[in-house]
Amino acid sequence: MTTLAAAPARSHPAVDEAIGLAREASTLGSTASILGWDQETMMPPGGLEHRARQLAQLARLAHGMSTDPRLGDALARAAEAVQALPETHPDRVNVRELRRDHDKATKLPARLVEELASTASVAQHEWAEARKASDFARFRPWLEKIVRLNREKADCFGWDRAGGERWDALADSFEPGCTARYVEGVFVPLRARLQPMLDAITAAKRRPDGSFNDHAMDIDGQERFARFVSGALGFDFARGRLDRSTHPFCGGSHCNDVRMTSRYSERCLLDGLGSTMHETGHGMYEQGLDPAWIGTPMGEAVSLSIHESQSRLWENQVGRSLPFCRWARSQMPEHFGGAADRFTAEQVYEAANVVEPGFIRVDADEATYNMHVMVRFELERAMISRDLDVKDLPGEWNRLYKDYLGLTVPDDRRGCLQDVHWSGGMIGYFPTYTLGTLYAAQFFETAREAIPGLDEGFAKGEFRQLLGWLNGGIHRHGRRWLSADLCVQVTGKPLSADPFIRHLEAKLGPMYGI
Ligand code: ZN
Repeated sequence: MTTLAAAPARSHPAVDEAIGLAREASTLGSTASILGWDQETMMPPGGLEHRARQLAQLARLAHGMSTDPRLGDALARAAEAVQALPETHPDRVNVRELRRDHDKATKLPARLVEELASTASVAQHEWAEARKASDFARFRPWLEKIVRLNREKADCFGWDRAGGERWDALADSFEPGCTARYVEGVFVPLRARLQPMLDAITAAKRRPDGSFNDHAMDIDGQERFARFVSGALGFDFARGRLDRSTHPFCGGSHCNDVRMTSRYSERCLLDGLGSTMHETGHGMYEQGLDPAWIGTPMGEAVSLSIHESQSRLWENQVGRSLPFCRWARSQMPEHFGGAADRFTAEQVYEAANVVEPGFIRVDADEATYNMHVMVRFELERAMISRDLDVKDLPGEWNRLYKDYLGLTVPDDRRGCLQDVHWSGGMIGYFPTYTLGTLYAAQFFETAREAIPGLDEGFAKGEFRQLLGWLNGGIHRHGRRWLSADLCVQVTGKPLSADPFIRHLEAKLGPMYGI
């Protein structure tokens, strides 16, 4: 069903004017997003060169629109007009958040924006080649340049020289209000609780049965099954698509046109199913945004961590639970005939929850994943503050992997060259993965209290109540609150690692006999 609603009447012409101008920039940005999706899914390789030109031109135009002095003027007048409204009134939220976006955009000189974009596009290519050859020396000058430009960017944005650091200004673009000190305050105690759990798991005598992770299933059948599960969770295929790409992602142009991708591996159904459920969580957040506010902050996601909380919740709290595995297993004969007959639901559940420290972040299980993120946070923070020279990155990376995960990294391909983020100029991004993981656990605990029989419902394929709860508590509010305040609104408490630790202990305790 297509949801269309008229924008609510607004009170002041300056608010209308500011929103009108911001919507033009946002509409152009959403066009670029569809071209980006097309590039990853449909475009023939021959289209690449001209597509880069199309995207660069759209980015330039959109930047011009979002830094338009007319927008700044309209926002100044609108700010006065909304002053008397409650802080969470949609007009006041839109004016406040548009001001934040406009200020950020205008603080960066066009020269720096272009240099960052052109450096990132070459650096990504150089990184891909360096990774293939496991050759850090090839990537090093590009990373040095990216770090230098990002330091300059942080200085343009401005940062708290009394108690903060440059990294804070960079993280703010992904996670408004986030600082290194805040992240450290979450990560240090989290690690202190994860480490003994991982040590106990490593020493445990009981191991879960992982045999379902090495069992060939028809790839086309897997894709049909993933699509079926995504729809059962609540993804609306009349307002979105699911296609294949090398790296799964969720994009699209707005809440009524959401484009997700996934990938499937012949020998492990749970790989493709897990990544599809993850992207479905992102996709249902996008579909749950209020259509009346398309192209304005009230119709946008709060932050990357809250976005990630939605994907992790469906992937981990739902998808890796025994009731879900019971339901999923019961649906397999219809999609795969007898191909999964020799596996019980309990075996599927155990396979979904094997804990195994490894080198690669994107392959990591729930218990070790956050260690990968902590290592990256420490390193990027040190590179930006100049405590770490880029040339020493591989050695420091390897030292931390030994320290956090007890692993000896064999080469830079499986070490500091594995992630695309830094080559794309994204510094300050990684912690949002772990913050999102913690938000997911806290939101889910609250949902469990609010919805009687939630878990039992999963075993019967009932997911709509959970989606409705997330929709009403989180999705429909757009950027009304910052992440930390939204968490208090939804759960009554500030973010804590406790629910996540409880979630792991309840599951891994019996599975590993610890
Ligand atoms: Zn994600």
